[in-house]
Amino acid sequence: MLQITNHMPTEDLRALDAAHHLHPFTHGAELKEKGVRIITRARGVYLTDSDGNEILDAMSGLWCVNIGYGRTELAEVAARQMRELPYYNTFFQTTHVPVIALAARLAEIAPEGMDHAFFASSGSEANDTNIRLVRHYWAAMGKPDKQVIVSRKNAYHGSTMGGASLGGMQPMHAQGGLPIPGIVHIDQPYWWGEGGDMDPAEFGLARARQLEQTIEELGEDKVAAFIAEPIQGAGGVIIPPETYWPEIQRICDEHEILLIADEVICGFGRTGEWFGSQAMNIRPDIMTIAKGVTSGYQPVGGSIVRDTVAEVLNAHGEFFHGYTYSGHPVAAAVALENLRIIEEEEVLRHVREVAAPHLARAWARLGEHPMVGDVQSFGMLAGVALTPDKERRAAFASPKGTVGQRCRERCFANGVVMRHVGDRMIVCPPLVITPEEIDTMVDRAWRAIDETFEQLRAEDLF
Ligand code: PMP
Repeated sequence: MLQITNHMPTEDLRALDAAHHLHPFTHGAELKEKGVRIITRARGVYLTDSDGNEILDAMSGLWCVNIGYGRTELAEVAARQMRELPYYNTFFQTTHVPVIALAARLAEIAPEGMDHAFFASSGSEANDTNIRLVRHYWAAMGKPDKQVIVSRKNAYHGSTMGGASLGGMQPMHAQGGLPIPGIVHIDQPYWWGEGGDMDPAEFGLARARQLEQTIEELGEDKVAAFIAEPIQGAGGVIIPPETYWPEIQRICDEHEILLIADEVICGFGRTGEWFGSQAMNIRPDIMTIAKGVTSGYQPVGGSIVRDTVAEVLNAHGEFFHGYTYSGHPVAAAVALENLRIIEEEEVLRHVREVAAPHLARAWARLGEHPMVGDVQSFGMLAGVALTPDKERRAAFASPKGTVGQRCRERCFANGVVMRHVGDRMIVCPPLVITPEEIDTMVDRAWRAIDETFEQLRAEDLF
């Protein structure tokens, strides 16, 4: 058997990866040509690669490592749980202590009246659960025609057939014949990119009212639910105008539409509250969770369900749905330990009082750069638009994402992982990041943007 270790030369590891590994969201041939980066270890907010470079991870992995890397308490809890009960299922009249404890703990931190959880192993699976759950709920309520779920263009809700259908990403729909039937997409509340001459408040209302128009067109008796992230993450860190969420809540209430808040990114402290719904002051019926519930140390996803909805489900026969790893004991034990750390180390207070205000101030400095517009942050999420003309809120003429991609490459060269969504640059650092580390992150981001700007100027593209 091949012995493959951290100590092998990078080139050998790269060759093996290229020979055997199909990467998610990746153009395989391009990756082979560029060579993959091999991350070997991580601590705090820093990653180390196989060449010994230290890179500040401003994306918390994939928006998930909320308490930072290297917390050995989680490893110890996982080892203990593996020794005691490595696996058992929660089907067929059985349960176990870690899943009982996690469900009960989630009920304590979730908004009032949301005391039930259905578990999965990822956000995508949880959103698949949500599709079946809300449709089953309305059928149980004697309204079997209430089946349509309204989502938004440029939303991201996962990569399974259901998750990608809820999502509003056209390139994803184009592969595999999506969306599945009964899913409708309205426009997103992205004022900087799509607001035209409206002011943000007016635009927020207009975009929310598309939900009402859609409900009126389809008929209230046909629409089951509306799903959205409190703040869009993978769509580009899009923070809606203040008028948006109150209007969405009014529409859902008046038309008896279930509100699903996808908290996969916004949950577990990202906004300074346990959930983004609390920061946005909305009252969801279901919250999708994943990522930060374990800080990424184990795969857990789930749906936190309002009691009134759970009661209907419980009273109407069997819900024919579940995953082998729903409520996996090791993953549940790790989630509990992560939630203990967030609570005992007052991570939410750190976000609210220290990290988020510091990030907002430091990030705002990027707005002084001639190529940067739309400087936004909320809690520990931040984004900027790269633009050839910030006054006109213009987009680059080159194919969308070209400039963003160049900038992302300059980020790696400058020792920081940021992500580009089109020509927006975004960050989502670990919640435990210190003010000094935030300054380092923003300094490196500035250098990456500025080097991109210089490249464009050298090529007469700016
Ligand atoms: N919803 C949102 C808002 C997400 O950001 C993601 C992942 N980026 C998902 C769902 C899907 O989660 P997973 O990748 O765990 O399936």
